[in-house]
Amino acid sequence: TDPVFYDPASQPWTSTEAPYAFLAHTLATLSQTRSRISILNTLTNALWTILHHHAPSLLPSLYLLSNSLSPSYVGIELGIGASVISKAIQQVSGLSPAALKQLYTTTGDAGDVAFEAKSKVRTLIPHLPLTIQDVYKSLLKIAACRGQGAAKDKQKIVERLLVAGSGEEVRYLVRTLTLNLRVGAVRTSILTALARALVLHGSVSGSAPGDRVDSYYATKELLSRIKPLPSNSKKKGPEDTGREDLKGLFLQAEGLVKQVFVQHPCYDDIIEALLDTGLDRLLDRVPLTVGIPLHPTLGSPTRSLDEIYERLGDAPFSAEFKYDGQRAQIHAQKETDGNISVKIFSRHLEDMTSKYPDVTLLVRDMFKQSSSITSFILDSEIVAVDHATGELKSFQELSNRARKDVSISDIKISVSVFVFDLLYLNNESYLAKPFRQRRQALRRYFPPHSPGDVTAARLCHVQSCESEQGLAAIQEFWEKAVESRCEGLMVKVLDYEPVESNEPAKAGTSKKKQLPATYEPDKRTSAWLKLKKDYVDSIGDSLDLIPIGAWYGNGRKAGWWSPILLGLWNPETGRIVAVCKCMSGFTDVFYKSLSERYPANSNTCSAQTEWDCDLGGFRPDVYFKPGEVWEIRGADITESPVSVAARGLVSDTRGLSVRFPRFIKLRDDKGIEEASTPSFLASMWRKQQGNSTLTGVDDGDL
Ligand code: ATP
Repeated sequence: TDPVFYDPASQPWTSTEAPYAFLAHTLATLSQTRSRISILNTLTNALWTILHHHAPSLLPSLYLLSNSLSPSYVGIELGIGASVISKAIQQVSGLSPAALKQLYTTTGDAGDVAFEAKSKVRTLIPHLPLTIQDVYKSLLKIAACRGQGAAKDKQKIVERLLVAGSGEEVRYLVRTLTLNLRVGAVRTSILTALARALVLHGSVSGSAPGDRVDSYYATKELLSRIKPLPSNSKKKGPEDTGREDLKGLFLQAEGLVKQVFVQHPCYDDIIEALLDTGLDRLLDRVPLTVGIPLHPTLGSPTRSLDEIYERLGDAPFSAEFKYDGQRAQIHAQKETDGNISVKIFSRHLEDMTSKYPDVTLLVRDMFKQSSSITSFILDSEIVAVDHATGELKSFQELSNRARKDVSISDIKISVSVFVFDLLYLNNESYLAKPFRQRRQALRRYFPPHSPGDVTAARLCHVQSCESEQGLAAIQEFWEKAVESRCEGLMVKVLDYEPVESNEPAKAGTSKKKQLPATYEPDKRTSAWLKLKKDYVDSIGDSLDLIPIGAWYGNGRKAGWWSPILLGLWNPETGRIVAVCKCMSGFTDVFYKSLSERYPANSNTCSAQTEWDCDLGGFRPDVYFKPGEVWEIRGADITESPVSVAARGLVSDTRGLSVRFPRFIKLRDDKGIEEASTPSFLASMWRKQQGNSTLTGVDDGDL
């Protein structure tokens, strides 16, 4: 299908406003492609045009394109139900509920329903065009409606938007409201496009809404308008000059924008700085900041201590207990008025300060004890602990705690905070320091601390063992971790580079490879290796999968959903890809709660493929609205003729699937974009091929 290009003649830009129609057409264009290059081109062109014609609309555009209203740690949510949206569509279109239901059955998408319904309405008096800023502000107003009558107030705002909008605007307004944009523009594409748009804005003189660039290559006409670059830039023939230079500039800008975003994920601050001082000063203007969570470093799975030694070569490392709790990024700062501000963020960057008032008290107490700290960011694991006996409790015990607004007097499960990294101290970022230095400062400035009685939270250092102590000591430490209710070990490289030894490198070792012992926000780094106790006898790691559909259960499971269809998150396409059916590991209580979360014919469970997933050959009876992430363990990974997950990564004709998948637990600390990916599954498959003789093709139970 042809892309739906925006027609500037029909919806002109003014000096004070940017038309929402432009953004809606961008979304419509994005929805028609899965090609990463087309997605980037479309986004780059859109952001460049907005930047050039109405820069104040850039920030709301980024939020609207990413279907969010604020950074996740601010957590502004629309909180609008399907019935409010449906009543508003009814009101604006004049269609009966039965007619709308009929439309829904044929289209299967609320946005398409609104589009169809509105197209039947004849507008006599033309409305003022919707603007990008107006739409964003209206969404904020919806999120702010509180108390009695909130549903009515929300409905009125939606009606006003639907009356003013037409065509694609209506479709995307409703898709935005139902949090289901159905476009493959993920965070990385948006950041890449933003960087490219800024480069174009800085290097190309003039732009009209019709101007377009393709990938790295601008059109000839645009190239002729590229400003001359500094004389030290490498130039080739006259034809290539602009292209090559543009490509270099793009790459530089993309790296910079992503680097800044992962350590300070706030579009508001980034755009303000960009519009003010451009790309050059971005790092200084938007630094790592106390109170704003950074994307954490993640570990890579391994299957044995042997593999760890093979991968790290001679690099000195520290093996730490991998505690089974909740990751917590603790930010604290002494304000000028002497108050101590404390924030605790989840691995998913959500603010969970109100879940841990005992940890906040602990942090305040730490400031009282030490005059040498004024501000810090710590990375840690909060673990339920019986302080009377010192026994570590399971993650399950910790998850019994309410998620919000816990008061100290209600706390039944006491916790310890096991600190394992220091990211910021006394106004200085520690991210670029090697782990050995960060750990030294962590131990020096944050000694173990246990104020108050047995119920108060405590600060502890993680238990660790150094590679210098030798293989036997590490082996013993691993066994101790397994006995102590830990998940296993986290093995971390201490220095920038492996220390050179005089021994020749064993074949296949990465002795010479540079391993980043710096703190790498948002990366699953090869300098952090995890070894879990269950790895040894099943597939390497567990998978985090998204429930996306189900079949009606039979026999004992009649009335429940079983089996459940699970999917991987594909960050390349921004879509979920079905991978396997799962029917074991569930309790009856879980089945029951599942039917409550996904009741048939509801806004979370529908007979139509309403959510954008690559199903391959799977045809479930119903489709779930993707939202949850489940930890799943399987016997092995198999090639599959039914699944299209990871197709093209290990075989051109077959995808991969998981044999005998078993439900382990709900990962309510993960969002769907943090679920396992096709490339992760492919890497598990490759590892399995290297480690065992299992190569069977699974044509069976799919
Ligand atoms: P998993 O599914 O194994 O929990 P994950 O995908 O949540 O993994 P990983 O990077 O794979 O994240 O594993 C690291 C997690 O282990 C951290 O997010 C943290 O919550 C936990 N953890 C426990 N102890 C440590 C430690 N000593 N160092 C780092 N992380 C630790």
